[in-house]
Amino acid sequence: MPPTRSRATSKAAVPEQLGFTGMPEKLFVCTPSKLGTYTDCPRRYRYSYVDRPTPPKGPPWAHNSLGASVHTAMKNWYMLPPERREPGAAPTLLKATWVREGYRDVEQERATYRRALDWLETYLAGLDPEEQPLGVERVVAAKTSVLALNGRADRIDERTGPEGPESVIVDYKTGRSGLSADDARGSQALALYAFAAQRVFRRPCRRVELHHLPTGTVVAHEHTEESLARQVRRAEETALDIMAAEKAVAAGADPDEEFPVNPGSLCGWCDFRKVCPAGSSAPAKDPWTAVEHLSA
Ligand code: SF4
Repeated sequence: MPPTRSRATSKAAVPEQLGFTGMPEKLFVCTPSKLGTYTDCPRRYRYSYVDRPTPPKGPPWAHNSLGASVHTAMKNWYMLPPERREPGAAPTLLKATWVREGYRDVEQERATYRRALDWLETYLAGLDPEEQPLGVERVVAAKTSVLALNGRADRIDERTGPEGPESVIVDYKTGRSGLSADDARGSQALALYAFAAQRVFRRPCRRVELHHLPTGTVVAHEHTEESLARQVRRAEETALDIMAAEKAVAAGADPDEEFPVNPGSLCGWCDFRKVCPAGSSAPAKDPWTAVEHLSA
């Protein structure tokens, strides 16, 4: 989805952001997901991060339960000692972490569990049990003149590149659709993780990978310093837009105008569809719609 506004773009290039008193202005504390929410829809950002109390959300989504279950099972596989890291461990791991919310009925939930177990066993069979990643669900953080960025990367691998040890960002995907190299190239979240991982581990981190468990495919992109810097600049522009909107609202501007709706295909999947004037006309999805094909 394209960014919606860029009224503060020119400010992002300022190397150090100073307030009138000469003190640095407050950095914008964020995760890639928080920035992505605003880019997708400023109104959804407002409902998620600004309005208090948070407006009522719709019911939990089965696809989120599925994603969380598989991600936690993957994390726990790396907590096992190497001699116990084998595909046969998958049923115990997945059962222990299985999230039951959002499914139509027990039958659908069981069918989805069986598919997820297949994905996991196949994926784990391709891993070297002796290989310990640099980080598993590792929080990485970095500051710029605008951002105090932090985020939890699914996995950070250690590989040897042409100039020595490098870090690689790995993100697991469990969605229905296959992925292309463009998904890895265009992902701002992956680029921001790479940017932060470079700071944290003090070594290059240019490669980002999406591992699509349902198809066993990996799509990757090799960033350059320039492409990472471009993504960081875009993130800073988004942060400046958000800060400007928040300041305007604090000064009395209409919150509906400062955080406009961005109706589109995402509305059907939005937690706030029922409270949003634009979303309530979008066709409703059942909480299990995105996993229906797994039990067909
Ligand atoms: S329903 Fe659509 S327009 Fe409304 S907040 Fe959600 S994504 Fe934005």
